[in-house]
Amino acid sequence: MNSIKIHGIGMTSQRTRQRLVKRLMEEGIRNQTVLDVMASTPRHLFIDEALSHRAYEDTALPIGKGQTISQPYIVARMTEILLDSGPCNRVLEIGTGSGYQTAILGQIVDKVFTIERISALQEKARKQMAVLRLLNIEYRYGDGGKGWAEKGPFDAIIVTAAAPVQPDVLMQQLVDGGRMIVPIGAADGEQTLCLIQRVGDDFETHKLEAVKFVPLLGGALE
Ligand code: SAH
Repeated sequence: MNSIKIHGIGMTSQRTRQRLVKRLMEEGIRNQTVLDVMASTPRHLFIDEALSHRAYEDTALPIGKGQTISQPYIVARMTEILLDSGPCNRVLEIGTGSGYQTAILGQIVDKVFTIERISALQEKARKQMAVLRLLNIEYRYGDGGKGWAEKGPFDAIIVTAAAPVQPDVLMQQLVDGGRMIVPIGAADGEQTLCLIQRVGDDFETHKLEAVKFVPLLGGALE
């Protein structure tokens, strides 16, 4: 593990983070690595100052450009599912957003590849990761729906925006035995968090729980 050790950053909120971790445990998060990393990662640095007093509430918050930083429970749950279901050395993330999920992964796995279609968000996330000295992350500005074949195949793929249907292109970029965690469903309708596992050329889908994500968008970049 690659935990963040920066003096003076986030120390003041250690107690509130502990409260959040306690809540995550009550909600069923069991993976100790995930809980430890969430206890030490300064989520308030990934949110605008005006909202930073709410950083350790277990809720999604706006990050501008119509997007949100995911709810801590969801970040913990998606990370835990990937870690508990097999190896996670090379991980592809679709939807960098604030970079909080990226930072959690970056402290646990060997290498994270992350794609974002809004350049302003990607730049902010990149700067934050430099502050936190998380250096095992590669960034791509582009349509994550196409994946990142040149860097693949990946042990795991995490999609942090809701895909309307199973993202076949991404599934093809998994190693044999690789897993993808992805919310599937309409933007304003019901969405289900799904774990899709590659077994040779077949894919097994497990439906996990109801979730609410911003949509995975195609087409023009912003
Ligand atoms: N993990 C992020 C979630 C941000 S919300 C966080 O917790 O901060 C989802 C993000 O996915 C948004 O930033 C949105 O711009 C991005 N996104 C949506 N469609 C995308 C696509 N096709 N390619 C790359 N990023 C996309």
